[in-house]
Amino acid sequence: MSTHCQHCGNKLPWVVDAFCPSCSNRLDEPPSPVAPAGAAPAAGKSAGVGALLGLLMMLGGVLALFPGALSLVSGNWGDALYTGGVGVALIIGGAFWKGRSARR
Ligand SMILES: [Zn+2]
Repeated sequence: MSTHCQHCGNKLPWVVDAFCPSCSNRLDEPPSPVAPAGAAPAAGKSAGVGALLGLLMMLGGVLALFPGALSLVSGNWGDALYTGGVGVALIIGGAFWKGRSARR
């Protein structure tokens, strides 16, 4: 039995019932399958796939930035904003995805 609530992390009294006194969640069931730091189970493969997907998104974003930059050079602001915006969104999304999967 852990001495801290699995849901809110509050310290539990020595004698506890089935519910946390702070957040009143059930103590006998874990909140979600979050592995403790250090013991990383079989999440390595999916994290690799997520990182690869993020990398591909960033690559696509970079590729989309090129025509956007070309349009910018030729003074075509509408095209530059549209294509560049998509590229920037892909890069940001990819970086977010990659960072999120790397942290797990
Ligand atoms: Zn709690």
